[in-house]
Amino acid sequence: MSEHTPGPWKPPRLTIDEKAWFVGDPTGNFDIAIINCEHSPAGSAEANARLIAAAPDLLEACLLSQKVEEHLRSCKWCDRQTRDMCQDAIELAIHAEATLLAAIGKATKSR
Ligand SMILES: [Zn+2]
Repeated sequence: MSEHTPGPWKPPRLTIDEKAWFVGDPTGNFDIAIINCEHSPAGSAEANARLIAAAPDLLEACLLSQKVEEHLRSCKWCDRQTRDMCQDAIELAIHAEATLLAAIGKATKSR
């Protein structure tokens, strides 16, 4: 199975005729997705394009959250039930949260 195109994907851009949104790869060499604006409820095509563009960032946030949980499960200093964390877990959790907030911002930010 192939891997997805690595992120971060380019923010969506609207075509000159305003009929579609394009989401590009990090190099700008090709389009990941083309979202048709015609027959879409007002604003939903742009919102869908933002969500698609944020997909690699959202996946990264999910993977970091999974790492936090794996750490809490396996670390002898951390307690998963009480969420008492060692310094490594705290730093990992802070990084995971920052990545998540940035991804949510990218997925929901208006142009
Ligand atoms: Zn720990």
